[in-house]
Amino acid sequence: MHCIKCGYEESKVIDSRSIEEGNSIRRRRECLKCKNRFTTYEKIEYTPIIIIKKNGVRQQFNRDKIINGMLRACEKRPVSLEQIEKATNEIEMELNNSLDKEIYASKIGDLVIQKLKEIDEIAYVRFASVYRQFKDISEFKDELNKLLE
Ligand SMILES: [Zn+2]
Repeated sequence: MHCIKCGYEESKVIDSRSIEEGNSIRRRRECLKCKNRFTTYEKIEYTPIIIIKKNGVRQQFNRDKIINGMLRACEKRPVSLEQIEKATNEIEMELNNSLDKEIYASKIGDLVIQKLKEIDEIAYVRFASVYRQFKDISEFKDELNKLLE
């Protein structure tokens, strides 16, 4: 980061805060030479996360899909969009922190299920019943019993 006044290369960060849901960082810097203060906006670069679907097809991770899936499961439930977005952010962060850059879709499904379990039991059962595609009613009952324990 060159100083915008004298062009000196080194500056120290006085303050930084993340903006736009943590996708970029606003930094206040001070030039080590002329003490000029300036602001920079730095985009946090993430390696794109690749999702491997059940049929082997790879596609780029898309957070909207997670939000939509959760919204569907939470229909007519007392769950706010804010809660869903927060959960999605947490999932995305977890994926970003993972060393694997190719992730099986089933892992994301499991993460969503975990989050829904914390947010709303009905939404959880709804999502799990679609996602896990229970073979029959007894399998579904087992899942319910685990929840009730
Ligand atoms: Zn300077």
